[in-house]
Amino acid sequence: MPQVNYDTSTPVLVTGATGYVAGWLVKRLLEEGFTVHGAVRDPDDPARTGHLTALAAQSPGTLKLFRADLLQEGSYGPAMEGCGVVFHTASPFTSKITDPQRDLVDPALKGTRNVLATVDATPSVRRVVLTSSCAAIYGDTVDVAEAPGGVLTEKQWNTTSSIGHQAYSYSKTVAERAAWEMAQAQSRWKLVVINPSLVIGPALSETQTSESFALIRQLGDGTLKTGVPHVELGAVDVRDVAEAHMRAAFIEAAEGRHITSARTVSFLELAMMLREKFGDEWPLPRRQVPKWLIWLVGPMINKAFTRRMIARNMGLAWQADNSKSKTELGLEYRPLDIAVQEMFQQLIDTGQLRRK
Ligand code: NAP
Repeated sequence: MPQVNYDTSTPVLVTGATGYVAGWLVKRLLEEGFTVHGAVRDPDDPARTGHLTALAAQSPGTLKLFRADLLQEGSYGPAMEGCGVVFHTASPFTSKITDPQRDLVDPALKGTRNVLATVDATPSVRRVVLTSSCAAIYGDTVDVAEAPGGVLTEKQWNTTSSIGHQAYSYSKTVAERAAWEMAQAQSRWKLVVINPSLVIGPALSETQTSESFALIRQLGDGTLKTGVPHVELGAVDVRDVAEAHMRAAFIEAAEGRHITSARTVSFLELAMMLREKFGDEWPLPRRQVPKWLIWLVGPMINKAFTRRMIARNMGLAWQADNSKSKTELGLEYRPLDIAVQEMFQQLIDTGQLRRK
């Protein structure tokens, strides 16, 4: 296990502190005794920040909330003042969009440039940990076969997403590229990047905006009761993603990108893990729908199922090499069945899962 040095003498900044991933990161930082500056869009909304203030009240660390917006230049200045580490997690992960440029790419790309410009202007910052994604490594599953040996590594970049096809993946790719450009243009602060696959597991707040919840909810609300498309992807427990951020910040030698993914799963496999705990209580899918059927009727049912999307993502193998996260960050991944079951239980308990 590489040595982790939690130096709590200077505060740290977490952008998008209200988020699903950020919540667990803030929790870990508070447990270690850090003073955490949480940058949020609305610090006065207890529905978004109540869980964070409650956590702080029970932890050795201290939480200070600041108002900031990715699209407002200079707005992260007050929150960053005096911080040694900046965790930049804020970026929209949602399919509820009308304009991909305005709703995804601008906050991701302009937001990253805005935050890093403030890092350039804040002498106390020595390290930035950026929450990127496996979406910045590959675009569609078909791209995985192009990687050496059919296995994604940190060397690959997503070259196939665009504003018109997989706009979220495009937003993460251009944002991470911009971050590396800005990091390489100076020598005072170091950039370390975490690239999670699909993040699953319970949230610390009752209301969630992350698309992770929409995806898991669909497995139980009846949308997919006749079957799921055969799509393979990586998944990881949210608590492991938070831990990866801690290690990326406080292991001196940490550098570069880190695929943070426990293993490959399919949507059917996730549904089977849920069936193990919830039985037939919910209309979980039992089978995979053949690709030809989705090809035929998919575009009529869901506008996200374009023929291009189907051809490039269904029935194809997904594999990624997570060994760098294990050797250099010392991560040990939790099992995915517990993560998905706890997440589903939370959706039930908070009334967010209803049969269609
Ligand atoms: P989330 O809960 O929706 O968090 C996104 C955060 O971004 C929210 O706190 C939101 O703040 C903030 N945000 C959005 N637009 C903003 C703006 N204009 N100005 C300031 N803040 C803004 O989603 P998440 O899943 O935790 O995602 C966190 C990060 O992890 C993102 O960078 C995402 O790309 C990355 N990631 C997620 C997954 C996954 O499967 N969940 C996988 C790989 C990478 P408000 O509270 O103000 O809305």
